[in-house]
Amino acid sequence: MRTRCCLFPLLFFVFAFPPSMAFAQAATASQKSQPAGNVGVAVRVCERCIRAHEEFLASDALQGRGSGTHDELVAATYVASQLRQYGIDPAGDDGSYIQRVPAIQRNIVSPPRLTISPPGSTEPIAWEYGKDFLAVVLTQTDFSGPLRKIKVDKLDTGNPAIEPGAVVLIAGTDENKVKHTAFSLASAGASAILTLARDSDVNHFEEAGKQLPKVANQLKDGSADDKKFNVLELNHDAVDAIEQLPEGSMVKFEARSSEEKGYTWNAVGILRGSDPSLQRHAILFSAHLDHLGIGVPVNGDDIYNGADDDASGTTAVLELARVLGRGQRPRRTVLFALFGSEEMGAIGSTYFGNHAPVPLKEIAANLEFEMIGRPDPAVKDDTLWLTGWERSNLGPELAAHGAHLVADPHPGENFFARSDNFVLAKKGVVAQTISSYGLHPDYHQPSDDLAHLDFKHMNAAIGSLLMPAEWLVNSDFQPKWNAGGRPQ
Ligand SMILES: [Zn+2]
Repeated sequence: MRTRCCLFPLLFFVFAFPPSMAFAQAATASQKSQPAGNVGVAVRVCERCIRAHEEFLASDALQGRGSGTHDELVAATYVASQLRQYGIDPAGDDGSYIQRVPAIQRNIVSPPRLTISPPGSTEPIAWEYGKDFLAVVLTQTDFSGPLRKIKVDKLDTGNPAIEPGAVVLIAGTDENKVKHTAFSLASAGASAILTLARDSDVNHFEEAGKQLPKVANQLKDGSADDKKFNVLELNHDAVDAIEQLPEGSMVKFEARSSEEKGYTWNAVGILRGSDPSLQRHAILFSAHLDHLGIGVPVNGDDIYNGADDDASGTTAVLELARVLGRGQRPRRTVLFALFGSEEMGAIGSTYFGNHAPVPLKEIAANLEFEMIGRPDPAVKDDTLWLTGWERSNLGPELAAHGAHLVADPHPGENFFARSDNFVLAKKGVVAQTISSYGLHPDYHQPSDDLAHLDFKHMNAAIGSLLMPAEWLVNSDFQPKWNAGGRPQ
């Protein structure tokens, strides 16, 4: 929403309810072995709460909750205040809900250089920033690799194998397919993706090129951030020129940068379990509270509100906190974590993985919520899907207890590896993401705003999870990876 001059050109990356107090009836869970807590008491979704969270988090006032910005801290503070209201105890720094994550903020200080050297050539071809190319996502300030060219229109299913470290030019008429191939190849180890700019107009390039690109922050303690994701957009002439070059030509990107101290913020709460025999089997509900902030204007709008990505997931976690925080404590310990800087390298969740309020081996399962604000046409109405469905016994069990939850209908997108859950899954926690992202065109656009949410869907989908969640936090059920399901 709204207009203002452009700041930084962040577009791609990783992967984030109507009137009165009318309640929607939640789905009925099966009644087998229902213990303490509020289980069995009708659980109703609070439509007003859902709408209220979205109206604040996705408002223009929060300016898109840019990763590591003051706006992200405001979002984390809002979440903290809601958790307090819902009876969840603080589990952040010094008795607060906020976990302040020290980060290194890298700033690019001069226009980056892009050069390509065909095999055997002595003189590389040089490209100019803001004229020939733009950087839309950077997790590195320098990278290089052999050129690989892929035309997505010729791909039937799946992605072509690429050598790790390749710089891949992806061409095609279907913008969504280009974008999704880019994500998949980036997670498959490409150094960088080159694509034709969505807006190749000279004026757009000049306007966007006035701002130096933003680069992902790094965790201060240097803990592993192995995510390489660099996306450059090229104008028509540059794409045509590269099309003529042989594969294997060496592509090199360099940008001078300076470093300064920065932070990102998580909001973390805990409900201590009442059953000592289940103390080591906590359940973690999570989402990311950051989004892309202010960026290159699209149709005069430069605020990337992220109403679906991931104010909707944050809202779902808050609604679970509201329901689980009322009345008696659940048998298991329940953690609520809303992460900062998912969009800039999953920094908040990586830090959480090293500084969780309980040891990670005592977290039996993590459910991350990403983009549940609109229905996915690939599945039935009011339904959510779970990434890595076949990897564990968690999804089928939740569905058996009434959750409107099915297998991820887009396995080729590798969503399992594209959100905060993956950080914890790699550390052994049974960690998966719940979503209903239907590959809509507003993804990572300023138009991912309140006007494009489907509150009816959100109410019903979140409502269907309330009783299964109550069952889960009061049950002896052991979430487990299936054979071969745990990521290496
Ligand atoms: Zn997201």
